Amino acid sequence: MILHADEKVLALFKDSDALLQGHFKLTSGKHSEWYFEKIRLIEKPAALERIIGLLVEKIRAEKKDFEYVVSPAYGAIAIGFLAALKLGKKFAFTQRLDEKMSFRSGFTSLDDSKAIIVEDILTTGGSINEVVECLKLRGVEVAGIYVLVDRTAGEVLIEGRPVGSLLALKVEAFEPEACPFCRKGILLTKPGASDKKS
Ligand SMILES: [Zn+2]
Repeated sequence: MILHADEKVLALFKDSDALLQGHFKLTSGKHSEWYFEKIRLIEKPAALERIIGLLVEKIRAEKKDFEYVVSPAYGAIAIGFLAALKLGKKFAFTQRLDEKMSFRSGFTSLDDSKAIIVEDILTTGGSINEVVECLKLRGVEVAGIYVLVDRTAGEVLIEGRPVGSLLALKVEAFEPEACPFCRKGILLTKPGASDKKS
């Protein structure tokens, strides 16, 4: 169920084939009406660039004070980088080293700055919370957190604050026995499995 989305946003996600509506088998084995294939966004830079343009409008409208856009590797690097470019800010990313999220050395002016976090999808908030912890270690103030797609319909808060999103979805997942789409006889498809915990 889509809770909020600008028509322009929805059209762009659909045009890029990133947002699929149908009958999908998730990696959990459950079935769902919606599937978000984030790799499609990276694959189609022109569509991604327009989507990021809309995210940047939203960020600008909030008139926040920050120097950096920070994103976790790898999926969100292109997203955060494009946002930073359009906003005229610096960009940094975190990456997992031995399971632990950390900054690559070399982002020298990050310490004690202000940053916003930009991520692709909010599912549990796990990755974003890890980025927040990384920023705290560097004395960075988190001025805002933004995702393209919030799959929790605004239910997950980070540091007690809501996460800004272009599209908020409530993804209902059904056990096969209880799936209304199975009951209707709609063809079940299994999209590419995501390899990253979000
Ligand atoms: Zn089903």
